[in-house]
Amino acid sequence: MGGDLVVAVDLGGTRYRVALIAADGELRARVSGPTPADRGPSAVLTQVHDAVAALVRDAGWEAVAAVSLAVPGPVDPWTGVVRQAPNLPGWFEVDVRGFFAQRVPTRVLVGNDANLAALGEQRFGAGRATRDLIYLTVSTGIGGGVIVDGRLLLGTHGLAGELGHVALDPSGPPCSCGNVGCLERLASGTAIAHRAAMELRAGVAPARLAALASDPDAVRTEDVAAWAAAGEPFARRLIADAATWLGIGVTGFVHIFNPEMVVIGGGVSRIGDLLFDTVRAVVAARAMPAFREGLRIVPAALGDDAGLYGATAAALDHTAG
Ligand SMILES: [Zn+2]
Repeated sequence: MGGDLVVAVDLGGTRYRVALIAADGELRARVSGPTPADRGPSAVLTQVHDAVAALVRDAGWEAVAAVSLAVPGPVDPWTGVVRQAPNLPGWFEVDVRGFFAQRVPTRVLVGNDANLAALGEQRFGAGRATRDLIYLTVSTGIGGGVIVDGRLLLGTHGLAGELGHVALDPSGPPCSCGNVGCLERLASGTAIAHRAAMELRAGVAPARLAALASDPDAVRTEDVAAWAAAGEPFARRLIADAATWLGIGVTGFVHIFNPEMVVIGGGVSRIGDLLFDTVRAVVAARAMPAFREGLRIVPAALGDDAGLYGATAAALDHTAG
């Protein structure tokens, strides 16, 4: 039996983060670095393991209850095998738990990053004191997690909570998942930037923006957000359209899970009021009244650290049996 510290790892496609976190949520130490994704799974895992070992050196392994990793993409939380990771080239059926179990003298857990971020927000972030919570991370894609009665919903294969891949528009754009018109294709940062580029190319956008965006394909979601913040109607409409789709999706989730709180994180959530006001208005107009009683739709509180805190919560739950 180890101590009460958790080594939490958030393995992202571009950066990895490692933190030493106590059971009360106090972050004791942290380190991060660029993920050497192009060098393949074993190079990535070796580098992350070296960072973990360096971080634990002072505290000692006897103070550590578990190493808990949040990974991007579908993962089997019981075996710790990553099925595939779209943002990590060459990752297919990678035994992350096996790799670490051979190298660290403590328990090893592995979970999906968006699922764990949901748990992080519920335990240590915006959703403290809630038991039923929906979490959405809206950035390049849309990921999610569902907390039911204080526990993360896993599903038969541990894959539950892919809230971005609910199809809403049968005549919408094709999605990387094989479906058509998924929420992710309609409301993610990628979708916003894509719509902006399409309208700039088609000459729908105001001439002054077309001049700004001489290369429509280089327009980023951040540019659209900045134009919207400056009051540009074209950009505000694009954000409102995406937020409307998000609200339609959230209405469905609210009807399925009847949560107390919907937490929205990820880069696109930083757009703020324009996005959240629209989502709340759509849910208010479309959800059945009883489902809206006391329902809060709020920004995430933990930012980029949600995965680290969620990995910690998962390890603490596991330790508690
Ligand atoms: Zn999809």
